Amino acid sequence: MPAHIIDGKTFAASVRGKVAKHVSQLREIHMTKPGLAVVLVGEDPASQVYVRSKGKQTVEVGMKSIEHKLDASTSEKVLLALIEKLNTDTEIHGILVQLPLPKHLDEDMIINSIDPAKDVDGFHISNVGLLGTGQKSMVPCTPLGCLMMLRDYHGSLSGMDAVVIGRSNIVGKPMAQLLLGDSCTVTLAHSRTKNLPEVIQRADIVVAAVGRPQMVIGDWIKPGATVIDVGINRIEKAGGGTRLVGDADFASCSSVAGAITPVPGGVGPMTIACLLANTVTACYRINGLEEPGEFTA
Ligand code: NAD
Repeated sequence: MPAHIIDGKTFAASVRGKVAKHVSQLREIHMTKPGLAVVLVGEDPASQVYVRSKGKQTVEVGMKSIEHKLDASTSEKVLLALIEKLNTDTEIHGILVQLPLPKHLDEDMIINSIDPAKDVDGFHISNVGLLGTGQKSMVPCTPLGCLMMLRDYHGSLSGMDAVVIGRSNIVGKPMAQLLLGDSCTVTLAHSRTKNLPEVIQRADIVVAAVGRPQMVIGDWIKPGATVIDVGINRIEKAGGGTRLVGDADFASCSSVAGAITPVPGGVGPMTIACLLANTVTACYRINGLEEPGEFTA
């Protein structure tokens, strides 16, 4: 039987709908409007597309959106001063510095200068530590979106065997922490993992966050497993042009898996939806209000 397709586009639309409801409650009952500031340094074309899309969706759910576009040669001092201004701006509840930053800027130092309460990307060292110790934190958007889809599809994840492929700070590591938090038995695989197909074979849940087009094939998947494909890779099309594919080979995996997220239309749309959800969560917390449990890990 072909795998159930987990429709991230529809799921993301429903998350945005819930976010919009919370935004109107915050505005009408609590007289506060959540605000998200996105800082883009330089002219990376992919980053420009993401920032545009984030700004548009932020406004669509009724939040305040501000964008700061800075020249690629911006100094650390100028960028830090801007972040400090946003940290103290009472109309801003979420701050996102679009990565990657130009080489001359110290990414870790810049991210760690964001007020952790406004760190809606969840990359600040305080939030990383809070997540790692199972405390209330801001959770990175992409893994949070993956977790939401897994919970929605499976209900409880307790006791399931999960393999996360990729150990990046923005996807793989926080994903592993979240699955551990939901009582999965977690293996974090990476480029040095031996016998990757065998490791994947025992997984009930496979999260692929590698950046290698169609690397995970159906033969590696346990029949009935759930495949969450985080990868976004652009490849040449047979007849010319390009197309987007994930880290999983959709054709072969979907004939073995029980459920799978497509690329595009799976994890991707959930990432921005979770950014909006994190901004709402931050707004509740900063105002000392009880936050909605539905968006948190
Ligand atoms: P990264 O390059 O920082 O990390 C890739 C990881 O894959 C590394 O930890 C590495 O050890 C591992 N790896 C590399 N080759 C491997 C191999 N042969 N076998 C096993 N592991 C291997 O990448 P990232 O930032 O985590 O992103 C991963 C993918 O997810 C990329 O395609 C990226 O575009 C995509 N992504 C998508 C979203 C989204 O919103 N859908 C968000 C972030 C990243």
